[in-house]
Amino acid sequence: MTIGVDDDESAFSRMDDSKAVEESWLRICSKLKGEVGEVEYRTWLTKIALGPIDGDEITLLLPTRFLRDWVRSQYGDRLSELWNQEISSIRRVELQVARPGDPVAPPIMLDEQVSSTAPTMAAGNDTEEAPRNPPEVKSDIVASLDTRFTFDTFVVGKPNEFAYACARRVAEKPSSVGFNPLFLYGGVGLGKTHLMHAIGAELLQRGNVSVAYMSAEKFMYRFIAAIRSQSTMEFKEQLRSVDVLMIDDLQFLIGKDNTQEEFFHTFNALVDAGRQIVVSADKSPSDLSGLEDRLRTRLGCGMVADIHATTFELRISILEAKAAASGVVVPAKVLEFLAHKITSNVRELEGALNRLIAHANLFGRPVTLEATQDVLHDILKAHDRRVTIEEIQKKVAEHWNIRLTDMSSARRARAVARPRQVAMYLAKQLTSRSLPEIGRKFGNRDHTTVMHAVSRVAELMERDAAFAEDVELMRRMLES
Ligand code: ADP
Ligand code: MG
Repeated sequence: MTIGVDDDESAFSRMDDSKAVEESWLRICSKLKGEVGEVEYRTWLTKIALGPIDGDEITLLLPTRFLRDWVRSQYGDRLSELWNQEISSIRRVELQVARPGDPVAPPIMLDEQVSSTAPTMAAGNDTEEAPRNPPEVKSDIVASLDTRFTFDTFVVGKPNEFAYACARRVAEKPSSVGFNPLFLYGGVGLGKTHLMHAIGAELLQRGNVSVAYMSAEKFMYRFIAAIRSQSTMEFKEQLRSVDVLMIDDLQFLIGKDNTQEEFFHTFNALVDAGRQIVVSADKSPSDLSGLEDRLRTRLGCGMVADIHATTFELRISILEAKAAASGVVVPAKVLEFLAHKITSNVRELEGALNRLIAHANLFGRPVTLEATQDVLHDILKAHDRRVTIEEIQKKVAEHWNIRLTDMSSARRARAVARPRQVAMYLAKQLTSRSLPEIGRKFGNRDHTTVMHAVSRVAELMERDAAFAEDVELMRRMLES
């Protein structure tokens, strides 16, 4: 059974005039149509349906994952801007795949009469007797889990295998000693949310447990809404009655003292009662400065699992899995090219692949390396621009405490040579420069020297976990 802590009847909704929201949407649609043209508009944007508003976020729903990804990559930012212009309290647009039973207004066809469009929308009715969303708690939290994010669709590799194993363990045996709380952390787009949803899905499938999942941000909105509607008791009770509570992106609570306090109490009550907590954040508990000490301490008491930056191998595996699932044939050469070029995170990698697949589907042309470079022109450019060899040299020299000039000096002492090799390795990984070009930047060294450095560093990383961590850290710093 599940508890409706993540329902769509957001009491926090400031917009309780659903008509006004629809009218805003109509204006946005009309603007978009003008911007993108009739055909694009019909192909992609008429499929969007309005979902609920929650706090500063409006949800828009699309019928398929493919459409959602497409609309997100092509129009996501523009949609946010337009919504923000219409309703200034809206800061973010969340694009989701609609699931059966989602309480949504139908999409707007501009050619139709306004009156024939959505009668109501999900957000914005504060009354209890709202008939659209029956107080069936079960569908509720299930609906808030993204069904694509399961253990089956999670590709496991070195950087995430530990986190994956911990997540599986918690899904199989919640509240086991040593695993409560489970604290997952890592950079953006590396699979934290995916793993949490996977835990939720697995638990619900086994049945007989109540699971609540929400972002820390949503937790805060719920909490504030409860205070406003003087229903904090209900809110607390609801939360404290679940078997498993998962809070995503906890770093959001930094600086939100009251909400943190509330979370702390909920956390304690649940753990004391032997319930499972799963939390994610972008940093480890000890690095989350700004969280109250006592909360940080408790968060670090169970299992803390880091998801590392992706490796080339993992990126290839993920691309292979996703390409296979899409049904579009993507040559290995193209996958390798993407895995080399897009190293930041899985989300961007996935976005790039989705765009390729969309293109292939749309035009019915095979995916080639040439087409890839063309279709992903902007993404690739952005990635190329991201890091320069000079930046890499500077950061690496700082990190290992050597002089910047030693990056191009002839000194061969290991204390200097090793960081230099790391910088060459990172230059190869993070930029699109060729080996001779890299060599030139390192005191006119030969390309074979660079090649040797790259393989030497890779080899050392395999052998020496601490060294590997250092290098990964550098990479992450350079990429962020
Ligand atoms: P985070 O919460 O860490 O920012 P997400 O869980 O939202 O990242 O992941 C971003 C995207 O990348 C999602 O679409 C997710 O399914 C995908 N993803 C991340 N890691 C993996 C993985 N190991 N295997 C398959 N997909 C992944
Ligand atoms: Mg996330």
